Amino acid sequence: MVAAVDPHFHRHTRWENRTSIPDSTASRYRRIVVKLGTSVLTGGTHHLDRPQMVELTRQCAALHGQGVEVVVCTSGAIAAGRAKLGFPRLPSTLASKQMLAAVGQSRLMYMWESFFDIYGIPVGQILLTRADAEQRRRFLNARDTLHALLEHRIVPIVNENDAVATEEIRVGDNDNLSALVSILVDADLLLMLTDQPGLFTADPREHPDAELIREVRQIDASLRALAGGTRTGLGVGGMATKLQAADVARRSGVDVIIAAGSAPNVILRAAAGEAVGTRFPALETPLESRKRWILAGPAPAGTIVVDAGAARALRSHGRSLLPAGIVAVQGDFERGDTVTIQEAQGPTLARGISRYDSQDLRRIAGHHSDEIETLLGYAYGPVAVHRNDMILLE
Ligand code: GLU
Repeated sequence: MVAAVDPHFHRHTRWENRTSIPDSTASRYRRIVVKLGTSVLTGGTHHLDRPQMVELTRQCAALHGQGVEVVVCTSGAIAAGRAKLGFPRLPSTLASKQMLAAVGQSRLMYMWESFFDIYGIPVGQILLTRADAEQRRRFLNARDTLHALLEHRIVPIVNENDAVATEEIRVGDNDNLSALVSILVDADLLLMLTDQPGLFTADPREHPDAELIREVRQIDASLRALAGGTRTGLGVGGMATKLQAADVARRSGVDVIIAAGSAPNVILRAAAGEAVGTRFPALETPLESRKRWILAGPAPAGTIVVDAGAARALRSHGRSLLPAGIVAVQGDFERGDTVTIQEAQGPTLARGISRYDSQDLRRIAGHHSDEIETLLGYAYGPVAVHRNDMILLE
């Protein structure tokens, strides 16, 4: 028997009467990285929370249906592995974690694949390590693969390649990994979902009157101190790594939002530009690809210490760094490596790509650029770090 259809049905279910917004509210973003922390995927338990994962998939699918390109950065491999093996007692070594990740990653991926399959959306697995960001060639390869997936309307599901990543090549936490992914895919929103509604003025578990910070325009020492004191559940990262990742992403022209994964329709609301969680607006001018790489790619291989005059020239006059302003060179690095530039006894000034290796720089430090060729027998030009290869940090 067919039930009679109430012709006024839609009036009774007007969107205004709902607590959450409809799937069809248009996203203001074109390409979104959704970072799902272990605490979101387990709902605070020791198992992956499948209904919760389906719910998150539904929201991603709704965005996908609007033509938005969605990339999922997922944690939970280690948690899934642990559950699958019946919570074995293992030494807390990297090898144990890698074993758990090897078991859990395929399980995690199987789940994402089946959930996206409900909506007829194909997924592709991408496992990255820091090495994929550090080497220009690998960076470009990873970027090409991600772009190819998106072009074919396939949702990339990204995690760190925990099973093989050794300490030296690990990103270590998926917060920073998601910032890297945002840069790789040229995202306009990075949505980091966690077990807290965002960043608070104090730890809300200890200070009930703590308030949610709606928008962060400047990441300074006091904010870092605030985040440093905040713990989150099972995952590796805490608020401190989230802040670090947010900083990298927003400097690369990506809006960042930290919000609670369990909030109703959080992905759709964030995409639609509703005020959810803590928002870090992208800094106004997106950096070009090379500058992005300086920030998110290789960890600095050394430090160039400069005198006050050079610091001023960099900071206030937008100049390149000349050998004459260098007072010391720390660490061993190659020409083309990323280095930190610091004022003697001062704060970190900038990050940039060195045009000379550390040995050469020590020899030409304090000298006029005209003398480079005589001192070394060759020259790669008058500057140590060119303005175009440099990002001022403060
Ligand atoms: N890559 C880890 C995992 O899948 C998670 C790292 C993190 O939580 O930040 O288990």
